[in-house]
Amino acid sequence: MDKWTLKYKTKCYNCGEVADQIIEIYPNQAFVKCSNCGATRYYILKKVWVDSDNIIEIEKNKKGKYDNWVLEKDVECYNCGKYAPQDILITDSGMYVRCRNCGFTRYYTFHMMDVGH
Ligand SMILES: [Zn+2]
Ligand SMILES: [Zn+2]
Repeated sequence: MDKWTLKYKTKCYNCGEVADQIIEIYPNQAFVKCSNCGATRYYILKKVWVDSDNIIEIEKNKKGKYDNWVLEKDVECYNCGKYAPQDILITDSGMYVRCRNCGFTRYYTFHMMDVGH
């Protein structure tokens, strides 16, 4: 399956510069890499379910150590097959990806950070 690539411009937690953070989402894992310093955070798929509430609405207002990132991307859903917005929430502990059409949700848990070279 294709990966989904997104960009989010923010202050990097590692180098402190405001730079594009490149987000790559695969079916089983995800990465967030700073375009400036190369620091990369690795996430691993932990849970998949059809979400009838809206987990992203619930989780996005919780305060963590870092700001939560709220993104969306129009793609073909792995579950329902519709070309529809996916809501994406990245927190300091994990990443939620939820299809706005069918509620299919994946949760990736933070695994490790590689600060680059
Ligand atoms: Zn950086
Ligand atoms: Zn869907």
